[in-house]
Amino acid sequence: MSFQDLKLIEPILKALKQEGYTQPTPIQAQAIPYILQQRDLLGCAQTGTGKTAAFSIPVLQLLYQQRQQHKEQKSIKTLILTPTRELAIQIAESITAYGRFTGLKHAVIFGGVSQNPQVDTLRRGVDILVATPGRLIDLMNQGYVSLSHLKILVLDEADRMLDMGFVHDVKRILSKVPAKRQTLFFSATMPAEIQQLADSILNNPAKVEV
Ligand code: AMP
Repeated sequence: MSFQDLKLIEPILKALKQEGYTQPTPIQAQAIPYILQQRDLLGCAQTGTGKTAAFSIPVLQLLYQQRQQHKEQKSIKTLILTPTRELAIQIAESITAYGRFTGLKHAVIFGGVSQNPQVDTLRRGVDILVATPGRLIDLMNQGYVSLSHLKILVLDEADRMLDMGFVHDVKRILSKVPAKRQTLFFSATMPAEIQQLADSILNNPAKVEV
C-alpha cells in the first residue's frame, strides 16, 4: 500500500515525499479512503500511530478539491478540536507540512497566551482552525470566530477532552456548527461516556481501530 494507492493528489504526495514518508501507517491506510468518501468516522487510536496525518491529509485534500470547484471565499471550513496546547501546536505543524503546496490557510488557537496574535491571524481568513475548547469559546463569544460555513469537524483525543472537563465546552461548540457536516471522532479509549457522545454526533460512521 502506497500513498498513491490512496488516490492522494499531487500537491499532497509531493509534501509527503518531502517529509520522508514512504508508506501510510495502518490507521492512515484505513481511515483516509473513508474520509475522502466524506463518511463520518469513529477512530480508536493512540498518539504515535500517525492519527494526526490520518485526518489532516484527507481534510486538506477535500478542502483543496472543494476550492477548485467552487472558488469559495475564506471562511472556516474545518475545525479541529483538541484538548491541549501541545497537541494543537503539533497538529498545526503537521498541517503546515502536509499542506505546504495546497495554498490552504490555517490558524491555531489555545489559552494561556495573549489572544491578539491569534485574532489577527483569524482576521486574515483561514480555511482550517485548530483549537482548544476554552479559547475557542472565548473567541466565539467575542465574535472573532464564526463556524456557520463549517463542513468538517474533527474531535481529536475525545477521551482526554472529557477527562479534562471540557464536556460542556465541547457541547456548546457542537451546538454552534452546522448539522449538515462531516464529523471525524478520534479517541484512544472508548468508555461508555465517549461512545454515547460519539453516537450522538456521528452519522452512520465508518469505524477504524488500530
Ligand atoms: P501521531 O500519531 O499523529 O502523533 O504521529 C506520530 C509521528 O509519526 C509523527 O512524528 C509523524 O510525523 C509520524 N508519521 C505519521 N505518519 C507517518 C508515515 N506515514 N510515515 C512516517 N512517519 C509518519
